[in-house]
This record gives sequence, C-alpha cells and structure tokens, in this order.
Amino acid sequence: MTQRNTWQRERVREALADAPGFVSAQTLHATLRDENTGIGLATVYRTLSGLAAAGAADSLQSPEGEALYRACATSGHHHHLICRSCGRAVEIEATEVEQWAKTVAATHGFTAAEHVVDIFGLCSDCSQVSERAGD
Ligand SMILES: [Zn+2]
Ligand SMILES: [Zn+2]
Ligand SMILES: [Zn+2]
Repeated sequence: MTQRNTWQRERVREALADAPGFVSAQTLHATLRDENTGIGLATVYRTLSGLAAAGAADSLQSPEGEALYRACATSGHHHHLICRSCGRAVEIEATEVEQWAKTVAATHGFTAAEHVVDIFGLCSDCSQVSERAGD
C-alpha cells in the first residue's frame, strides 16, 4: 500500500469505531461519503478485511450473507447478539456454549476446534417499534 492511503485507512478505522453496531462496507462507505472524504468503496473493503484479519475488528455474516464488521471492546473470544433491524450489538460470553462445543468436538475426535455463534434478533427498541406498527 502506498503512503498516500494511510490517512484513508485510519479514517475507515475511526468510522468503524464510531459505528454503534455491526456495519457492512457499503454502510460505512456511505457514512464516509457524507463527510466528503473521497474514500472509495474498494479501500473500505480492503481496510475492513485487513482489520478483521489482524484481529482488530470482528467480522461475521448477516443472515443475508453480507459481511459485517465491528470494532468490539472485548478482544478475547466472545459471541454477539445482533439486532437485524438497527445493527446494534451486544458482546456476550456463553460458558455453556464453550463447554458444549468442546464436548461435541471431542466426541467426534476433533481437536483444536473453533466455533462461531452469533444470535440475530430484534433489540428491545426495535421490538417496540414493530409492536406499535401493529404486527
Ligand atoms: Zn465482537
Ligand atoms: Zn434494533
Ligand atoms: Zn464461544
């Protein structure tokens, strides 16, 4: 990467840190475009996947198969509760899941097992909105 792009990557990193929940590259790009940064979508994609590969951001797939990113406060292994309406995310520990995953892997003779468990739903705010809308 050229030196010229360093500030752009830094700006993408900041925008991700400011995001309230999981965001897609497109969403983050739209935010940056509103600020007239001139940062291209390809740069946003590259920066986000670089951050995820370096462990500086969490990434996951939405139920629609879209890659979502978040700069989580927790650096260790954790799981997420994600609002599929507004993207708000809660970092959760799931002791039962850790134990279950270990047991299931061992039962089948697997070692060095890893797992990804994220729960998508509607946060309390969005649940109230959909109730008020009457469905
Ligand atoms: Zn996380
Ligand atoms: Zn929500
Ligand atoms: Zn786990």
